[in-house]
Amino acid sequence: MEQKEDMIVAEGLSKHFGSVKALDAADLSIKAGEFFSLLGPSGCGKTTLLRLIAGFEQPTAGRLAIAGQSMAGVPANLRPTNMVFQSYAIFPHLDVRRNVAYGLRRARLDPRELDRRVGEALAMVDLSGYERREPHQLSGGQRQRVALARALVMRPKVLLLDEPLSALDKKLREAMQIELQQLQRAVGITFILVTHDQEEALTMSDRIAVMFDGRIAQVAPPRELYERPGSRRVAAFIGGMNFIEARLEGAAGGRLAVEMEAFGRLDLPRPAGFPDNPSSLTIGVRPERLKIVANGASNGGSPGSGGLTTRAGTVLDVHYYFGETTHYFIRVDGREEPLVVSVSNSQDRAEFETGQRVEVGFEPASLVPLA
Ligand code: ATP
Repeated sequence: MEQKEDMIVAEGLSKHFGSVKALDAADLSIKAGEFFSLLGPSGCGKTTLLRLIAGFEQPTAGRLAIAGQSMAGVPANLRPTNMVFQSYAIFPHLDVRRNVAYGLRRARLDPRELDRRVGEALAMVDLSGYERREPHQLSGGQRQRVALARALVMRPKVLLLDEPLSALDKKLREAMQIELQQLQRAVGITFILVTHDQEEALTMSDRIAVMFDGRIAQVAPPRELYERPGSRRVAAFIGGMNFIEARLEGAAGGRLAVEMEAFGRLDLPRPAGFPDNPSSLTIGVRPERLKIVANGASNGGSPGSGGLTTRAGTVLDVHYYFGETTHYFIRVDGREEPLVVSVSNSQDRAEFETGQRVEVGFEPASLVPLA
C-alpha cells in the first residue's frame, strides 16, 4: 500500500477533436496508491484525459504509460483500469450479484472463485446480503456502490471515476465521499476521480490537478492548492478569494516588497517558483484570513488587533449569512471594491452594523502573491 512508484505517466499527451484542443500537451505522473483528482470547469478536458487513460480515446500526440507499460495500441479491455460512470451503468434486469459478476463471467472464471470474489467485492462496499436485490429495489447510493463493486471485482490497478457522485443529493454525496476515501485507503488501488466540485476534490484527494482549457494549471495536495495557489485563475476557482492589485517594488532573498492598492507597502514571503519579473502582480487573500477588528477588540474575542496588521474601513450593508459563518463586505479606505471577510459564528462572535467604522486585520504571511 505504501508503494511510491509511478502508476500513470503522461508526457505531452494531447487529444484534438478537429480544431478543439480537448487536451493540450499534458505532462502528469500519478503515484501507485494515490487518490488523485482531475478538477476543473466544464469543458476543461478532464473527462478526455480520463478516457485516454481508460483507452476509450486514442491520443493525437504524446505518450501514456500505466504501471511502466506503454499504452500505445493497447485496447481498453486489456488495460489494468476500470471505470465507474456517473450514470452507474448497472444492468437494470440483473440482480446485484449478477451485475457484480458480469465481468468475471466474461473472463470465464471458475464458479467457486467467482462466488468468492463477488462476495469479497460486495463486502468491500458494505452490500453483503444484497445479492438478490434488483437495481430498482436499491437507493441511489446503493446503486453507486454496486457499480463500484463491479469495477473492484476485476482487481484493476487503477480505478477511474467519472463524476461518480454527482447524481446523488448533497447529504448522501458527503457520506459517499467519506466511504469512497475509506475504501480507497483499504484497497490501496490508485483512484483517479474526475469532478468539477472543488469541495469534493479537496476532501478526498491526496493530490489534485486543476485544469483549464485543455491544460493542467497546477498539481498539488489540497492544502497547498488552497493556501498557495500558483495563479490567479487557480486561486479564483478554488474557494473564495479577494484580489488586490499590487506592484512589485523589490525582491530580496525569500521576501517580496509589494505596494498594494489602499494597503500600502508590505513585505511578504516569496512563494516558491515566483518569477523575478512578473508581468503583473495581484495579491490574494482568503475571506477567512481577514478579521474585523472593532472598538479595540478583535471579533475572535482577543484584546486589540492581536498583533495583526490593520487597515481602516467601513462595513457595507451587504452581508451573507451561511449558518457557520457570515460574510461581511468591508470597504477599505482608498479602495472601491469591497473585501469579503468571513466571520465565524462562534459563541463570542460580534455583529457589525452597516456604516460602522472598523479595522480589517490580517497577517502579512496569509497574503498570497500571484504572478
Ligand atoms: P464536463 O465537466 O462538462 O464533462 P470536461 O472537463 O470533462 O467537461 P471534456 O468532456 O474532456 O471536458 O471536453 C473537453 C473539450 O473537448 C470540450 O470543448 C468538448 O466539447 C470537446 N470534446 C469532448 N469530446 C468530444 C468529441 N467526441 N468530439 C468533439 N469534441 C469533443
